Amino acid sequence: MSHDASVEQQILATIDKWVEQELRPIARKFDQADEYPTELVEQMKELGLFGATISEEYGGLGLSASTYARIVSRICEVWMAPSGIFNSHLIMASCVERAGTQAQKEHFLPKFATGELRGGIGLTEPDAGSDLQGIRLVAKKDGDHYVLNGTKTWISNGIKGNCLAVLTKTDPSASPPHRGMSLFICEKGEGFSVGKKLKKLGYRSIDSAELIFEDFRVSADNLVGGEEGKGFQQVAGGLELGRINIAARGAGMAKGVTSMALHYAIDRKTFGKPIAEHQAIQLKLAEMSTRAAAAELLVHQAADKFDRLERCDLEAGQAKFFASEAAVQNSLDAMRVFGGYSYSPEYEIERFYRDAPLLCIGEGTNEIQRMIIAKQMVARAS
Ligand SMILES: Cc1cc2nc3c(=O)[nH]c(=O)nc-3n(C[C@H](O)[C@H](O)[C@H](O)COP(=O)(O)OP(=O)(O)OC[C@H]3O[C@@H](n4cnc5c(N)ncnc54)[C@H](O)[C@@H]3O)c2cc1C
Repeated sequence: MSHDASVEQQILATIDKWVEQELRPIARKFDQADEYPTELVEQMKELGLFGATISEEYGGLGLSASTYARIVSRICEVWMAPSGIFNSHLIMASCVERAGTQAQKEHFLPKFATGELRGGIGLTEPDAGSDLQGIRLVAKKDGDHYVLNGTKTWISNGIKGNCLAVLTKTDPSASPPHRGMSLFICEKGEGFSVGKKLKKLGYRSIDSAELIFEDFRVSADNLVGGEEGKGFQQVAGGLELGRINIAARGAGMAKGVTSMALHYAIDRKTFGKPIAEHQAIQLKLAEMSTRAAAAELLVHQAADKFDRLERCDLEAGQAKFFASEAAVQNSLDAMRVFGGYSYSPEYEIERFYRDAPLLCIGEGTNEIQRMIIAKQMVARAS
């Protein structure tokens, strides 16, 4: 936000170099082994990625959403999973920076920025994902603490992270239910345990886990904003940045597979000429590149609005919806271009094909995005 264009260019150049030197060479091996990239995480700390969008006054890089989106896209052109290691962490940070008390900002944000405290957001439960007002995890006041009981599932960074923003019900009988929902910053400790690592189709190497709260005591000082009943809105605010991030991932993936398909089509020959000269392949390449470019533009439209502090749920929803579907479609089209080799783990294409569908599910499914877009269209026209 406070940086001039040349500083942002330098940051992007540093990320470019890191992606090529450190990320690309290990992506396939770590994904195949579903191995956590510990060294990459240490490098991410040094690059400042855990504080990318946290203000400089709290030790972060203070990047605009636009620059942040460019960083995310660049990483996802090569390998999507590592972006998840700092994305949900930054949603937690965004909730604290936007809605936390001054004491919470001063206590948590510098530690989030260095990665000393690192984690994500615990919203989803076994019986409630899209319908977050249906969660059951209860936080009951007990003196100057709250006592948490319940379960979260599918939580990214649940195992490797040491601190999570957890959405709870402080008043399960509230009507409408969101008035009884509150967000807590929970550092791991007695009563807060983690179930086994969940197996996944794609998005490997990053841990997704069940979190179990059994009489877990958290200080009332960790209630975000210091007031009960605000958790649902606080999370919705943080998810705007989250949706821009998912959209940026989709735009990056759509561009990455298009580039791979293009180079393969130039090299691969059938019937005496490169397949890039067969019209059927040309049509695919043209559609893929158009989709990727449109996705990128939508991401930047949403990020610009976010940076101007304007309401951007419609724009973030459009970007998330379009860019994630573009990543899925382009991964499938790239498989067609690569033919049989696309089906081999020796090539990168199959990873994109396994990773992309997650983008249609996370941070609000694409069905929910379309509902958000339409609601805002009606509201803005009324
Ligand atoms: C790899 C991975 C990582 C994740 N990381 C996190 C994380 O870090 N933190 C976290 O809190 N959660 C996380 N999630 C959970 C994710 O956010 C949820 O899966 C998602 O919100 C959808 O919820 P659900 O799975 O319960 O599906 P449901 O809500 O049960 O939806 C099932 C289907 O019904 C559709 N649907 C639901 N309601 C409507 C409606 N009103 N109208 C039309 N269609 C509807 C949905 O779009 C979907 O197609 C993760 C999930 C995965 C797979």
